[in-house]
Amino acid sequence: MRTEIFAPVVLKYIPRTLEPHTFYISEVYGTTAHLCACGCRTKVFLPLSPAEWRVKFDEVGITVRPSVGNWEFPCRSHYFITQNAVQWAAAWDQVRVEDGRRKDGHDLDKYFDARKRRKFWRRLRGRLLGR
Ligand SMILES: [Zn+2]
Repeated sequence: MRTEIFAPVVLKYIPRTLEPHTFYISEVYGTTAHLCACGCRTKVFLPLSPAEWRVKFDEVGITVRPSVGNWEFPCRSHYFITQNAVQWAAAWDQVRVEDGRRKDGHDLDKYFDARKRRKFWRRLRGRLLGR
């Protein structure tokens, strides 16, 4: 059965068995898990980071960005989650998938580069201050 509405649950550990229509968020571990909204019961894990996925809470529910693209699964489903509701998007063709992946990799590189740079400056500052 397709999921039209997700119920967000914030907890420390993602449970081994996921309930359908439930969107698990572990802020401590910076990850999320849910069963694919198409109903195929595949577990979908979306890591949270500025370069990966972001979950925004408001009074209506959670909004997940960017979209969830399950290209690796046979269903190849693609959807947005906006204020708990699933909005189906067109399945990307392979070219778009590879383009998107390249871009994702690029964003991720930028994110980790920025982190490395911050660490470098922190270390340098520590050295200058004699710590
Ligand atoms: Zn699916």
